[in-house]
Amino acid sequence: MAKIAVLDKNMINMIAAGEVIERPANIVKELMENSIDAGASRIAVSVEDGGKRLIQVTDDGGGIEPEDIETAFEPHATSKLRTMDELLGISSMGFRGEALASISSVARVKIKSRERDSISAYSMEIDCGDKGAVTPVSGDYGTTLEVRDLFYKLPARRKFLKTVNTEMGHISEQFTRIALANCGIEMKLSHNGRLLYHLLAGDDVVSRISVLLTKDIAQGLVPVLSEEKDLTIAAYLGHPSISRTTNKFQYTFLNGRYIRDRFITHSLKEAYRGLTEPNRFPVAFIFLQMPYDMYDVNVHPTKIEVRFDNPNLVHSQLLGVIREKLMSLDLDVEAGSGE
Ligand code: ADP
Ligand code: MG
Repeated sequence: MAKIAVLDKNMINMIAAGEVIERPANIVKELMENSIDAGASRIAVSVEDGGKRLIQVTDDGGGIEPEDIETAFEPHATSKLRTMDELLGISSMGFRGEALASISSVARVKIKSRERDSISAYSMEIDCGDKGAVTPVSGDYGTTLEVRDLFYKLPARRKFLKTVNTEMGHISEQFTRIALANCGIEMKLSHNGRLLYHLLAGDDVVSRISVLLTKDIAQGLVPVLSEEKDLTIAAYLGHPSISRTTNKFQYTFLNGRYIRDRFITHSLKEAYRGLTEPNRFPVAFIFLQMPYDMYDVNVHPTKIEVRFDNPNLVHSQLLGVIREKLMSLDLDVEAGSGE
C-alpha cells in the first residue's frame, strides 16, 4: 500500500502559516501591508488582548470584488504578480499570495470589502480554513479584516504566545515600522478600546518618531540627503552622544519596506567609528530609494532581508554621506554618554 500522500489543503496552509505567522504582530504587518498595496489613505488597527483575542484592520483602499474574495484566501493567490519578469522588479509590499491563506488557516477570520464603484460590501467568514459563503452586507468603501482567537486549534502554538504586554510591544513595533515608512497615510492603533496612536496623513517623519518612539530620540536628529543615479539616501542621524547599548533605534527602509541588512549596519558602525564607544549603537533612521530591479526581496518569507545586486554601492554611499555629515558637525567627542 502506498505510504506517501499529498496533505489535505487545510493542513498544507496551516503548516505554511508557520513561516510567516508566529505571533499577532506578524498578522498586523501582513494586513497593514495589504492595505498599503490597496492604495489606502487611512488604516485603523484595533486589537484586543495583545492581538490574541482580536486583530482588526480597516482601510479605505480599493477593495476586493465579490468574485475574488474566496480566491484571495487560496494559497499563492495574488493580484500583484503575474509573470517571472514582474517578480524581478516587484514594487508592492506583498506578492507571495500567502498571508490571507496562512492567517485564515490558524484563526477565525472575517472579511468585509467594498469596491469604490460597488453599491454593496461583501463579507465572508473562514474558520481555520473552512470557508463560509460570500454574502452582501452594508459597509463603507475599503476592506476590513478581523482575525479572532489566533491558534485556537493549535494549543501548542497558542501556548507559545507571550503576555498581553509583550505581544502588544511587538505589535507596536510593527506598527511603528510601517508608520515611519508611510507618512502620507493616516494611521490609528487601539488596544482594548483605548486609542494609543493617531497619526495624521502628511506628518513629517521626525514628528512620527517623536510620537511613536521618544521625544528624546527625535530631538536633535540631523537630516542628510544624498542623491545618486541608482540610490537616494535620506537619513536622520542621532548625535553620537545618544548612542545606545542595543541597535533598537536603527531603522532602515528600502523603497518603503523595513529591512535589516548587515552591510547597512556595518556602514553605520564605520561612520560613527571613534565618535561613540565601540560597543555602542548609533541612533539612525535611514530611508533608501533604489530601482526595484536592483535588489531581490524574495529571500525570506517575511521579506525582512533583501539581496542587493551591488551591496558595495549601498555600503560606500551610505558610509560616505554619514561620515561627511558627522565630520561637519561641531562634535564634542565625548563618546557614548547617553542612554
Ligand atoms: P499578497 O499580498 O502577497 O498578494 P495576500 O494573501 O496578503 O497576498 O492577499 C491576497 C490578495 O487579496 C491580494 O493580492 C489582494 O488582491 C487582496 N487583498 C488582500 N487584502 C486586501 C485589502 N486590504 N484591500 C484590497 N485587496 C486586498
Ligand atoms: Mg499581502
